[in-house]
Amino acid sequence: MLKKSFHSLIAIIAGTFIFLIAGSISFAQRVPTPEEVLGFKVGADYHLASYQQAIQYLKALEQASPRIKLFEMGKTSMGKPMMYAVITSAENMAKLDRLKEISRRLALVTGLTDEEARGLVAEGRAVVHIDGGLHGTEVAPAQHNLQLAYDLISSEDTDTRLIRENTILLLVFANPDGMDMVAEWYHQNLGTPYETSPMPWLYHVYAGHDNNRDSFMLNLVETQNIHGQANREWFPQILCSHHQTGPFPARIFIPPNVEPVNPNYHPMIIRWKNLIGTAIGAAFDRNGQSGAISRARYDLWSPDMVDTVGDLFHTVSICPETQLYHYATPHYYKINDFPEDFRDLTPSVFYPNPWKGGWWRLRDAVEYVLTCSKATLHTAALYREKLLYDRYQMGKDVIARFQKELPFAWIIPKTQWDAPTAAILLNKMIFMGIEVYQAEKNFASSGISYPAGTWIIPMNQPFSLFVKSIFEEQLLPDLTKYPTLWQGLVQPQKFADAYIRPYDIAGWTLPYQMGVTVSAVDTPLEVSLTPVEKAVPPAGKVEGSAGYAYLITPKTNNSFIAVNRILQAGGEVLRARESFSVEGKSYLPGTWIVLAGSISRSFMDALAKELFLTIEGTRGRVPVDTLKINTPRVALYKSWTASVDEGWTRWLFEQFEFPFVNIYDDDVRARELGKRFDVLVIPSMSTDDIVNGHKPGTMPPQYVGGITRAGVRNIKRFVEEGGTLVTLNSGCLFAVDELGLPVRDVLKDLRPAAGRGNVPAEPGPPKFACPKSILRMEFNAKHPVAFGMPEEAPAVFARPLAFDILPSFEKEKAPVVISKYPKGSLLMSGYLRGEKYLQNKASAMEVPLGKGRVILLGFGVQSRAQPHGTFKLLFNSLYYGSAR
Ligand SMILES: [Zn+2]
Repeated sequence: MLKKSFHSLIAIIAGTFIFLIAGSISFAQRVPTPEEVLGFKVGADYHLASYQQAIQYLKALEQASPRIKLFEMGKTSMGKPMMYAVITSAENMAKLDRLKEISRRLALVTGLTDEEARGLVAEGRAVVHIDGGLHGTEVAPAQHNLQLAYDLISSEDTDTRLIRENTILLLVFANPDGMDMVAEWYHQNLGTPYETSPMPWLYHVYAGHDNNRDSFMLNLVETQNIHGQANREWFPQILCSHHQTGPFPARIFIPPNVEPVNPNYHPMIIRWKNLIGTAIGAAFDRNGQSGAISRARYDLWSPDMVDTVGDLFHTVSICPETQLYHYATPHYYKINDFPEDFRDLTPSVFYPNPWKGGWWRLRDAVEYVLTCSKATLHTAALYREKLLYDRYQMGKDVIARFQKELPFAWIIPKTQWDAPTAAILLNKMIFMGIEVYQAEKNFASSGISYPAGTWIIPMNQPFSLFVKSIFEEQLLPDLTKYPTLWQGLVQPQKFADAYIRPYDIAGWTLPYQMGVTVSAVDTPLEVSLTPVEKAVPPAGKVEGSAGYAYLITPKTNNSFIAVNRILQAGGEVLRARESFSVEGKSYLPGTWIVLAGSISRSFMDALAKELFLTIEGTRGRVPVDTLKINTPRVALYKSWTASVDEGWTRWLFEQFEFPFVNIYDDDVRARELGKRFDVLVIPSMSTDDIVNGHKPGTMPPQYVGGITRAGVRNIKRFVEEGGTLVTLNSGCLFAVDELGLPVRDVLKDLRPAAGRGNVPAEPGPPKFACPKSILRMEFNAKHPVAFGMPEEAPAVFARPLAFDILPSFEKEKAPVVISKYPKGSLLMSGYLRGEKYLQNKASAMEVPLGKGRVILLGFGVQSRAQPHGTFKLLFNSLYYGSAR
């Protein structure tokens, strides 16, 4: 007996041994848990993994398992490698290139028959992009990435195997710099009174929260990396971009979204979003995780986000918003912490399982994000073939639609106010996978003749709805007409003509913002086309001999780069105050006059070539009054309240090669600004943030307080002694109110009071409403700040501001209008109620003060670094400030 048992035991041990050996054939070593590498459980209280730690863990997984592989998608803004993981079964991993090719071919449609498409679908796998951490302080999604990777690789349950076999997960850390910054900030404050304090700088070095408003503009390298991966390489069928600003007290927002819907989405996109959202909702209830809400806050209007732009490329894109307390600090919620309309916990169609309150820990948020990701992957696995085929069919539908429907194409002439900027626009389209062509011969459309070489974007291509959405004028639907669309038990809407603002912007038409002329084609074009790999503007050159000077047009944004380089190289630059003619040619006010004796011809030749500038040499003196241009000594105010507009402005100065320094509250309080700077730029931010900053006790002491009254006095003295203060958008109110300018803020009592979510604070219609939209604007191009501008151009109305001039006793001290809203119809794209309050009111002004001046730029001249058409106002202000 004993002997037999002993033998059985041996057999069991031997069996275990054989099993382990067998296991080690597919696994180099045991898959390490996150805890084994990080030293703490994912989502543990008071612990945040940094990006460095996250990659260290994923590399450990890659060592241990054939089910994960790491790739670099590019560098971050701060120079880190931006890594992503591919997770799938070992069998799929072995033929990854083939599976990628299938995804690409189905998305691009062209060259496939339906039968071939079905063959590819049968062979293909659903590609799902999941990203976390885009918004650095929304910490749970990036942390969840680690647990998700471990679970998907190590679990052997039926659902996980189904996911591994049928899907390819692209697991992305969307903002590595931010993940490191936030982990460092949190851990240094842990256990102090500042444990949950906000970070006093941007979690994306240039864009902060706006890193999710950059998706059609692609200014940031991270945006390029993410969309490059999606649109140039992997063509995922589903994209899930996780966030953590859920509508309180719900625990997570999932689709369906709220109105309005961008009319350019293929209807199947909306259906799929709703289906995936509902599947996720069911997963929450199955797991006993209450509090998933739909039809709240988040609309589908503006395509400037990672998810909403993906939809235009037929990637079903969702943006779940889990609830956040602060970082990894737990919090207990009582029912009395809830807004009143959530306290009765009545279930409703889109919130059937209300959250009842209790503890909310980082681990809870991680678990919610995990449920959401796994349900998304599970849905992708179950519907693999439908998703793959639908992505093909959506592209096919679009191609067919625009063979018989307007517009047939877009024409982008090469002759533009600012041709290099037109090329920038086209190259953004090309980057996103849009096919751009050039006409091989001269042709006509709608009675207009165009030369050979004209750029054309035909609409019969799979992703042309992106072009349409970006190029056309937006007309935000008046949702007050459809009251029943909005009724819900949760956050009921009061309709009586109430204004309901979109979640983000109302109008964005990119050609308007960039000052680029495009025309929609309403008859089929008959001209042969050559594909364009990169849009190149007409070549630049130096014409004629420059006995006296080189003349450069002020119309081109690149001229600022040129002038910055010329000044840097010791060249002498003047600007014409008026229009003038020389050697039979006429020139605009603001024309750059570079004195030939101060710079070499070869330097100018190189500039003309690189920057696509036509530079004209002139032999004789130029008969015009001039300003002497000097390199401006620019200070850009940077507050510890972390202004996104400051970040964008900084980015723009770097792009256009303006030297500048950031100055902080203590610089403004203590230093003599006039000795160091010619120009002080205050970005768009509130007066309270500028003057008072963070309240005492809310932050470590070095980040508390703003410029204070002392700073206000210093700024006033700086201007009175000859300095130039440039204020952007909301920053103008600081100048108007604190420096006592003779200017009236005409919208002061008309700005809509902010409500919660989409709910206006007051019932009834506001007199004035204009969420970020594009309006018509008149420019005084003879004013040095508007040099190079057309007399009329589209402008971004980003904050509700407009000015009247108050009567003044001193005529020479009276403010000068640089731009204003004209009399007629103003709205070009978006939404505007209360037009009459803007008409004939100033939007930008020069206000003399002592020996200096304040330049009020009261609209979005550089908002999100998108409106290339009005960047000049900011750049001109800098030169004007140092001109003599
Ligand atoms: Zn977010």
